[in-house]
Amino acid sequence: MRQLIAGNWKMNGLQERAAAIAAPLRRGADGLGCDLLVCPPATLITTVAHILAGSEVAVGGQDCHARGEGAHTGDISAAMLRDAGARYVILGHSERRADHGESDEMVRAKTVAATAAGLTPIVCVGETEAQRLAGEQNAVVGGQLAGSLPEGFVGVVAYEPVWAIGTGRTPTEEDVAAMHGFIRGRLVALLGEGGAGLRILYGGSVKPSNAAALLGLPEVGGALVGGASLQAEDFLGIARAARA
Ligand code: PEP
Repeated sequence: MRQLIAGNWKMNGLQERAAAIAAPLRRGADGLGCDLLVCPPATLITTVAHILAGSEVAVGGQDCHARGEGAHTGDISAAMLRDAGARYVILGHSERRADHGESDEMVRAKTVAATAAGLTPIVCVGETEAQRLAGEQNAVVGGQLAGSLPEGFVGVVAYEPVWAIGTGRTPTEEDVAAMHGFIRGRLVALLGEGGAGLRILYGGSVKPSNAAALLGLPEVGGALVGGASLQAEDFLGIARAARA
């Protein structure tokens, strides 16, 4: 399967900047050997989807509510994301787990809602630095997978060690390969054959200079990119390092 390079813009960008990133992506995406996705803030999804319409680059959201509609001030449903032009949605990012107290149960309910609305969920898991230092990373990630993925899950899993996000630090290649192998085993145990073909992205300080090494590792099905996705040339540099 082609690798997926997904950009998470987080809470960055106004209309002008969105166009400045998306337009060069549209031009640069042709002929790449991977799939490309950008996840702008909800306010920019329509703009970015319009700029990227008919291109090789898909658009996604960064979160959705578990309910389809109703009295949830400030929230956005999966159907609203899809209506705005999104095809994917990031769920359970560590910043949402930390800033909004999102539990595995909440992530699971959002994943069900996203799937029902026709979005491909990208479910994020990953340990904190203290958990890794205590040797608890497999127990933590295994628990997050068991709690966050609904029965019959079809989508993408992103392994993002919390301590590597936005810090410029990455795990060793051995540690990334070991964790991705562990996640593959858990996916097959939880989902059966369906778990064998799901993409597992690595996320955490991916940049053009380390992308080839990380994307070349076994069971790495792509990358979830934060900071470097805000510069079209850096994001395309990572995409060019992807395995076909
Ligand atoms: C992220 O937040 O998903 C992420 C991977 O960020 P960064 O690439 O900036 O570490």
